[in-house]
Amino acid sequence: MEKECIFCKIARKEIPVEVIFENDNFIVFPDAHPKVEGHCLIIPKKHFTNILDFPDSLGAELIETVKKVAEIKIKQGADGFNLMQNNFESAGQVVMHMHFHFLPRKKGDGKNHYCV
Ligand code: 5GP
Ligand code: ZN
Repeated sequence: MEKECIFCKIARKEIPVEVIFENDNFIVFPDAHPKVEGHCLIIPKKHFTNILDFPDSLGAELIETVKKVAEIKIKQGADGFNLMQNNFESAGQVVMHMHFHFLPRKKGDGKNHYCV
């Protein structure tokens, strides 16, 4: 699973990645098909399928990572952001490596809270 997983390959830097931020357990990089300008993905470096097998013990570091990304994006001009996280195919999860979408927002960007 981890061998074939595209996000594991990104985490291991086996394929080129523009790193926005990283720490011991997470890496943040741009989404290949951004829904809004600056759309990026926050992923654990280890493979977890979805939030159900993601360990509680990484929860605090995940929130710290979200805040770091917010700091970066706000410096770049965002004045808000949405977080989105899909679990299982029925909910629209396509990449089966747990991830959060970080969606920077700007007043008047014309999107709703689902960024559509
Ligand atoms: P999901 O629907 O699973 O929550 O979202 C997966 C996201 O990963 C999509 O927004 C898609 O554009 C993005 N994605 C899929 N493959 C790649 C890739 O190889 N590189 C990057 N940077 N993003 C990807
Ligand atoms: Zn993976």
